[in-house]
Amino acid sequence: MTEDNAPKRFRVNNLVRYLDEDESVIRQRAAQKMGVDESELVDFALIRRSLDARHKPRFNYNVEVAIEDARSLGKLPGNVQPAPDPGKFAKKKYEPTKQERVVIIGAGPAGLFAAHRLAEAGLKPILLDRGQPVEVRGRQVSKLMHKGELDPDSNICFGEGGAGTWSDGKLYTRVSDIRVKHILETIVELGGPSDILWKGKPHLGTDRLVGLCKAFRKRLTDLGAEVRFGAFVSDFVIDKTAGGNLVKQVVLRDGEKIDCDRVIMAVGHSAREMYRWLASNNVALEPKPFAVGFRVEHRQQLINEIQYGKWAGKEGLPTADYRLTANLKDGDKKRGVYSFCMCPGGQIVPSPTQPGGICVNGMSHASRKGHWANSALVVSIEPDDFGAFGDIDGLEDFGGQLAGMAFQREAERRAYELGGGGYIAPAQRLVDFREGRASKDVRESTYKPGIAAADLSQCYPDFIIENLQQALDRFDKKMGGYLTNDAILVGVETRTSAPVQVQRDDESFQSVSVGGLYPAGEGAGYGGGIVSAALDGLRVSERILEELS
Ligand code: FAD
Repeated sequence: MTEDNAPKRFRVNNLVRYLDEDESVIRQRAAQKMGVDESELVDFALIRRSLDARHKPRFNYNVEVAIEDARSLGKLPGNVQPAPDPGKFAKKKYEPTKQERVVIIGAGPAGLFAAHRLAEAGLKPILLDRGQPVEVRGRQVSKLMHKGELDPDSNICFGEGGAGTWSDGKLYTRVSDIRVKHILETIVELGGPSDILWKGKPHLGTDRLVGLCKAFRKRLTDLGAEVRFGAFVSDFVIDKTAGGNLVKQVVLRDGEKIDCDRVIMAVGHSAREMYRWLASNNVALEPKPFAVGFRVEHRQQLINEIQYGKWAGKEGLPTADYRLTANLKDGDKKRGVYSFCMCPGGQIVPSPTQPGGICVNGMSHASRKGHWANSALVVSIEPDDFGAFGDIDGLEDFGGQLAGMAFQREAERRAYELGGGGYIAPAQRLVDFREGRASKDVRESTYKPGIAAADLSQCYPDFIIENLQQALDRFDKKMGGYLTNDAILVGVETRTSAPVQVQRDDESFQSVSVGGLYPAGEGAGYGGGIVSAALDGLRVSERILEELS
């Protein structure tokens, strides 16, 4: 078949399906819109589906169809256009002419996708992670949840798959980049569900993520990469001969030295020892804004009712989520207060990495069938807020460079004390928090190892608490019934993103201080979330491949 008589492809946008209709109506409606018989569609693919729940809930679809003979079509109707050339979206191929030893620190999304890209191109990268493979890590996470015993190297933030493994696995990002499609396609190739390619808000859930991590590991080793767990990188050997400053070896905690030509440092937002190493070795990094607050937990049924009204509970509707924001004025500053990482039908999880401190986050399973909805409620903070706790004993902040990290640790220490130890989290009823009174009791929560009634205002400086209290009134106006005493706040949520950015050169992606060191992903300040961290890992590895090709 020549190009000219190949089927012609079209995008058909804004096709509607109501809840009581079968998904097959979309194919019929695409044909109707094109003015052809359904049998003339020789190919049909969903491109995007999103839910519109503002009035009577309905799904909106964009699809791609192929038609054998498009000559009779005439002028294309509205919402129909020729499909983009698939060649435009092809992944760039690299053929490195040189083999180099690339060590990647961190098996989170950034490290995994960087390793994959390099290994696909024929390099043999070495991927190191301080934590354990998912089979072992699962037992360590369970020990933390059920016995209150923390392994500082392998937990909810550290280990195979990184911080996003025991998560809701939301796969959306606001970043527009062709690599996002490749990331999702790789996940599908590794066994992820194909609907993530077209759902408007794709998510995986912890149950699927664990299996995907195992498949990812196998793919990497099949491609010739070396994957090592329990490999905590505590130091680097930097070659300073001839006035240079080049990374030559990474050093593990047990003293083992691994030779390398380049290092991708994808250690995530909780790699506090690494931040300290960088700061004490004069590697350029700057404090950066992030956000802190608590995790709120409502009955999922209430969220469904608020979001879907009389349609709540109707078959075919996904478990409802929400996104809330308030822009407040705080003296001469503007403060964003917002919900973050909402987990419909999920559970609150303990995400500390250091003994004596507590912080929380959220996860859910693929089905999102749990009875509870949780979300972070956080306030944005800037570097000039980091000193708000005053002098904090025993927390070096390297002249302000690590002041954000010191701020996080202090809030986490206070929360641990308020909970009474054993990683029991302090909690407060939502209306009590709004009114500024300590809760005498709290209902049960999904959070294991358990919660204790407390006055959460003791976790943070006043401005955080006051901004959150003010925002709650706005949130209740947007979602009537949100501010209820049946909901609880659990503390503290401090690890929303990295407290620093490690400076790297815009062109070479290498640290501006150390040659051959590539800061990548969320921990280095170049991503926030599973997909955007993976994207940064790809960008950095492609830069390396360009240099070697
Ligand atoms: P990470 O995933 O943090 O990986 C860094 C890795 O480096 C870790 O495995 C760690 O063990 C390793 N490491 C650290 N220090 C060292 C060292 N010195 N030596 C060796 N190894 C080291 N994002 C979403 O987009 N959707 C979600 O639904 C979502 N839910 C989340 C739920 C939870 C509970 C948590 C904690 C996070 C969630 N996130 C979510 C955020 C997301 O997980 C992160 O943005 C993402 O994982 C960052 O990827 P990364 O590769 O940059 O770093």
